[in-house]
Amino acid sequence: MSNALMSNLEVSWLFQEMADLLEIKGENFFKIRAYRNAAKTISKLDKPLAELVKNNALEKIPGIGKAISSKIKEILKTGSCEAYKKLLEEIPKGVLEMRLIPGIGAKRARILFEELNISSLEQLEEAARKNLIRKLPGMSAKFESDILRHIKMLKGENKLISIGTARELGKKLVEYLSTIPGVSSVELGGSLRRWKETVSDIDIVASTTNPELLKESLIKHPRTVEVLEYSQNRVHIKNWWNIEVDLSITTADNFIPLLHRNTGSKSHYEQLKKIAESKGISLSNPSIIYPNGNKMKIESEKDIYTALCMQYIPPELREGKGEIEAALENKIPDLVEVDDIKGDLHTHTLWSDAADTIEDMVNAAKSRGYSYIAITDHSYPLNAAHGLDTKRIYSQLEEIKKLQEREKEFTILTGIECDILPDGSLAYPDEVLADLDVVVASVHSYFNQDKDTMTERIISAIKNEHVDIIGHVTGRVLEERAGYELDLSRIFEAAAKYNTAIEINSSHKRLDLNTENAKKAKEAGVKIAINTDAHESSELNDIIYGTAVARRAWLTPDDVINTLDVKQLLRHFS
Ligand SMILES: [Zn+2]
Ligand SMILES: [Zn+2]
Repeated sequence: MSNALMSNLEVSWLFQEMADLLEIKGENFFKIRAYRNAAKTISKLDKPLAELVKNNALEKIPGIGKAISSKIKEILKTGSCEAYKKLLEEIPKGVLEMRLIPGIGAKRARILFEELNISSLEQLEEAARKNLIRKLPGMSAKFESDILRHIKMLKGENKLISIGTARELGKKLVEYLSTIPGVSSVELGGSLRRWKETVSDIDIVASTTNPELLKESLIKHPRTVEVLEYSQNRVHIKNWWNIEVDLSITTADNFIPLLHRNTGSKSHYEQLKKIAESKGISLSNPSIIYPNGNKMKIESEKDIYTALCMQYIPPELREGKGEIEAALENKIPDLVEVDDIKGDLHTHTLWSDAADTIEDMVNAAKSRGYSYIAITDHSYPLNAAHGLDTKRIYSQLEEIKKLQEREKEFTILTGIECDILPDGSLAYPDEVLADLDVVVASVHSYFNQDKDTMTERIISAIKNEHVDIIGHVTGRVLEERAGYELDLSRIFEAAAKYNTAIEINSSHKRLDLNTENAKKAKEAGVKIAINTDAHESSELNDIIYGTAVARRAWLTPDDVINTLDVKQLLRHFS
């Protein structure tokens, strides 16, 4: 027997589809918004639409006008509506699928359809392989490689999903589930909440007074393709993206203990459980009950750690790798946070292979609350990436100077991502590098050099007094290629000695350094720069992934150079 509110959700889903279809058609913005708002309102109603229709109460709901209300009646009666069917006939199915790929959406699906006539996933894949997509406004080479990666995921060719993709889809799911009537809390759990760089599924923990409706809202959702398991407190499904979603359900007072257990890791939780047992308490109740009968209600995860007489341990550190011992001795440091980051030191623009102008990048950095950004386009041996020759470097400096004149508080740092050539020399003479504020030196060619040669090659760059940061040092690309052979301990030793920072590249297909290596770099006394390597202004937001790597590596703001203000930073570089 279906929950009485399920038909509300079905109407809501249909309106969301209509809004996307209208957007792909390029319809009027207000019309699209009307459907989106109606979909949202309807999903949250705590009375069945049929009942509201019967009582003539439908049009009293804000945002539900005549047009929408007549469609609701039609859908309730027939299961669909003519306007929707008509739209479906007008737009190829492949375009509708394309819009679901992370990073695309209805607006870009329309551009791809109109400009390149792409109407299937196969055509999309082919266009990305032929580098046709990067020519469209606002789309970059990186966007193309993301598309290829996501198509691989849809085909089930990747067992592990990158954290960026999983979090993006997971966050949308959390947002959706939190609108279901009866739900009080929903959060991502498992390894996704611990910010592991790749995950095998999306864990979600929710509390509700109406578990049946919550379960059905996931099982019957249009993007659910297979129900793998179903029990009283759990639904396990596979969705259209070929990702498994595991939803655990509980009551409001048990939400925190369940979220804590679900977050894990298993090893972390088992260790905690042992400590709890030795104190005669259990971690699976809504309250901590002490052996003397005293009771403490668990209001947050902090309460659990307090009850065990230890410091709070953030999810990123819960791997069972020494964090519990540290917490017992009060040695968990204040980890670096996204809000500590004052600027990005590795970004690209239309001058090389990225999608946006310098001004776009500056505006995006300002809206993130940054006080500086370094523009570091590619150097010239990288022909495919439209690298800058010396002449273009100096014309870029002119443009930056003009843009800087308009800024009061914000600093645009000049820079370059300079190729480290196979023999360890740099793509420009020292006099040119000396004219730039920030030099990121990276390897982009001859990946197959032997370990010693590659290590020496990078150390030569570290020794150059103009090089401030080594970019994506191991060269690995998740799901594509492992890093090249490298003696990292020698590289870290040199970086510490010559005061050259090593990057944590936040792009979720790189995450280079990874957690383990970032930890070793810190131990060697190396300073870290957390950069996004953004090729689109929106990618400045990827800083959350690099910061998560830094946190998992136990880094504090002092370990990270772009937590400095611009004056301190320039002093550090000189
Ligand atoms: Zn690079
Ligand atoms: Zn780059």
